[in-house]
Amino acid sequence: MSVKGKTAVITGSNSGIGLGIAWELARAGVEVILNSFTDSEEDHALAKKVADETGTKARYIQADMSDGDQCRALIEKAGACDILINNAGIQHVAPIDEFPAEKWNAIIAINLNSAYHTTAAALPLMRKAGWGRVINISSAHGLTASPFKSAYVAAKHGIVGMTKVVALETAKEPITANAICPGYVLTPLVESQIPDTMEKYGMERDEVIEKVMLERQPSKEFATTEQLGGTALFLCSDAAAQITGTTISVDGGWTAL
Ligand code: NAD
Repeated sequence: MSVKGKTAVITGSNSGIGLGIAWELARAGVEVILNSFTDSEEDHALAKKVADETGTKARYIQADMSDGDQCRALIEKAGACDILINNAGIQHVAPIDEFPAEKWNAIIAINLNSAYHTTAAALPLMRKAGWGRVINISSAHGLTASPFKSAYVAAKHGIVGMTKVVALETAKEPITANAICPGYVLTPLVESQIPDTMEKYGMERDEVIEKVMLERQPSKEFATTEQLGGTALFLCSDAAAQITGTTISVDGGWTAL
């Protein structure tokens, strides 16, 4: 079955990996719904650009993924959700004994709780449509840990666990649930970690990229948003119909170490 004509909701998709996935799905003829917490002209223009350049439909729906009701409202406003990409995420880097509680709560809310709310709202629509794909963007940090990222690592491990449960609960239906675990991808989220990491380790920018970030990525290359879009598209294909409840690493060998 082709994905052409299916509808995908991609949380946190006005930049980075979410936007990369949106582009790849749109190129395959999937109607895409872009999202973030902002509601600017640029956000709506981005959806128009995706539609114009791919010939599919694209919309932008504002919803703050730190708020459970807004997560559910996003799915309701979308009207259909054959493919749900839980991608919205933030990061904060600090030792656990100095980790601000509001940052901890925001990371757990956006990176983990939002996926619970959107999945709960989307599954009835997938069941009605008789087909569905839940794709959670976890991380290499969903399978392993790094210092100073307690909330992020907890949320990313949590979403891997939730993925397995959703897969078991939908196992007899034409619905799959999987998590993609990227290594480092040079997106605004990663850019924003560089100054803090420079301070923590007393390093220059190039040293942080080489010795901290890509140090654990044996390929010594960042993964790209296009590669993540291609992985998501594969999970939507018939070839992936029996792949459920698992993780796919796109990390240049990081988790093989
Ligand atoms: P990014 O900062 O470019 O994108 C994050 C997206 O989430 C943006 O569109 C942002 O607007 C959105 N967002 C943030 N807070 C939100 C909120 N409250 N409500 C709605 N949207 C919100 O970062 P990215 O690197 O593209 O990250 C995307 C996902 O990939 C995240 O879940 C991240 O943890 C994961 N990830 C990234 C990397 C990497 O190296 N970049 C590696 C592994 C996993």
